Amino acid sequence: MSDDKKEENIKANNTGEKGTTIPPHFIRYIIQQDMKTNKWAGRVETRFPPEPNGYLHIGHAKAICLSFGMAEEFGGVCHLRFDDTNPTKEETEYVESIKKDVKWLGFNWGKHEYYASDYFDQLYAFSLQLIKMGKAYVCDLTPEQIREYRGTLTEPGRESPYRNRSMQENLTLFNRMKRGHFKDGEKVLRAKIDMASPNINMRDPVIYRILHAKHHRTGDKWCIYPMYDFTHCLSDSIEQITHSLCTLEFEDHRPLYDWFLDALGVYHPQQIEFARLNLTYTVMSKRKLLQLVKEGHVRGWDDPRMPTISGFRRRGYTPTSIRTFADRIGVAKRDSMVDYGLLEHCIREELNKTAPRVMGVLRPLKVIIDNYPDDLVEEMEAVNNPEDESMGARKVPFSKVIYIEETDFMENPPKKFFRLSPGQEVRLRYAYYITCTDVIKDASGKVIELHCTYDPESKGGGTPDGRRVKGTIHWVSAVHAIRAEVRLYEHLLTVPDPSDEEEDKHFLEYLNPESLEVIENALLEPSLANVKEGQRFQFERHGYFYVDPDSTEGKPVFNRTVTLRDTWGKMVQQNKHD
Ligand code: ATP
Ligand code: MG
Repeated sequence: MSDDKKEENIKANNTGEKGTTIPPHFIRYIIQQDMKTNKWAGRVETRFPPEPNGYLHIGHAKAICLSFGMAEEFGGVCHLRFDDTNPTKEETEYVESIKKDVKWLGFNWGKHEYYASDYFDQLYAFSLQLIKMGKAYVCDLTPEQIREYRGTLTEPGRESPYRNRSMQENLTLFNRMKRGHFKDGEKVLRAKIDMASPNINMRDPVIYRILHAKHHRTGDKWCIYPMYDFTHCLSDSIEQITHSLCTLEFEDHRPLYDWFLDALGVYHPQQIEFARLNLTYTVMSKRKLLQLVKEGHVRGWDDPRMPTISGFRRRGYTPTSIRTFADRIGVAKRDSMVDYGLLEHCIREELNKTAPRVMGVLRPLKVIIDNYPDDLVEEMEAVNNPEDESMGARKVPFSKVIYIEETDFMENPPKKFFRLSPGQEVRLRYAYYITCTDVIKDASGKVIELHCTYDPESKGGGTPDGRRVKGTIHWVSAVHAIRAEVRLYEHLLTVPDPSDEEEDKHFLEYLNPESLEVIENALLEPSLANVKEGQRFQFERHGYFYVDPDSTEGKPVFNRTVTLRDTWGKMVQQNKHD
């Protein structure tokens, strides 16, 4: 079987229905083999190494589920390590948000919380060692010159004129760099490898730079900072990581990591690369997400439209739905784009079973039932979740004046419109059949009120004569309804993949101007009067909703997590029949 075919198979299996086992992916296979051969003396020690320069996104969730998941599965541990080597972009706020998000996903790093900055002394010692071995030198070229000397994919680089400084001179200069004798960018420390290497990463990469900046943890102690590549592989080594799982873009860095570890003769973890997660209709780079936040295109890192873990949390996603998603997309060696619909399918499938159903009218249209007694209130029995009887039933008050959804009425309906229209009977969910007798409009011709009659014999949704009523609509009793703000979301971008579009266009040009719709005064059944932040409901026919932290006493705010339309589930079903 070709690799592509294999991957397709894996993907098809992963997106299957309940009960489908998750096929073993290649990383699980490698670890299984290592356990058999006792390669790491039975140890599985992985790490998740975020740079605290932004909030985690759903791509990180994939990496977290993989690294923590493998450790869990094989009885190992997974470290949470902050790769905090860039003082100018990192903040404690990000550290805290990352910890919160990993915990929320349900993973536990125990005592294994580490910071690359805790290794600065040791990394400095390693760099001295390289200088003493003649494998590192202080270079005075400017950043622009370094770039120019580096060459290109097709041309070899040129050696720096400072490459052959004596070891003593290098030691002295590096020491002076550390003591703050030079300005930012004036000098760097570089590994002495091979300016003609076909792998550009090996062309004497910079390993230390001067940055007179305060670090979120080490304060003003350092004015030289180790580069990511140098820090990363050595941090893995210091922590005795067995399987260092990272995304494909680091494949070309692996020879450099090998070089550092071998030159220094230290513990050597095994690095295994896997494909990044890309999701349709969104962006997945911290730089772009930061821009969305900083420029106010969204309301913050946890805006429910953001593909951040905190955004999904606020949108109403559950940790299990995200973990299920991570399992289903699998782990492959080739970059691909995952359909947003699959993620929605995962949360819908879960909430279908767990969320109580309620009635809420988003765009209310007043209905007066003329033949219903003026002061009568009846308590209608409504089931909380037909998927789960144990969730019981509740009473919903019914009275003479109700609200229905504006879109459930049409004065001149097309043929297949089975909801309310003049003369056409419709079923009110859990209540009575009603027939529209009169339509009231305002001066502009907009329908503002309907008059109806009800059939007292049809209580609960049927009649003795068994006549057929095709449509069922939801409603709320006017005097009993509570008001709520409801926020509806669409995709952040108008195109599935901006990189497929015109090249010179910036992703902001594809921002969906209709990604947020706020309904200030939705009317909901009174059982929702005392909801608490974090609760989830299905509003019948509208989708799943989550109680937002912006809720106040007397005015809850709901975010729509997802609609009821399961495009992904439909597609999978269809493929099965084809
Ligand atoms: P971004 O490209 O969004 O800025 P990053 O790779 O710079 O992300 P890090 O904080 O360095 O962000 O990422 C921590 C870990 O998460 C890394 O090991 C990285 O490989 C992994 N990771 C980042 N983005 C994705 C993604 N889209 N899919 C899977 N893993 C990811
Ligand atoms: Mg990174």
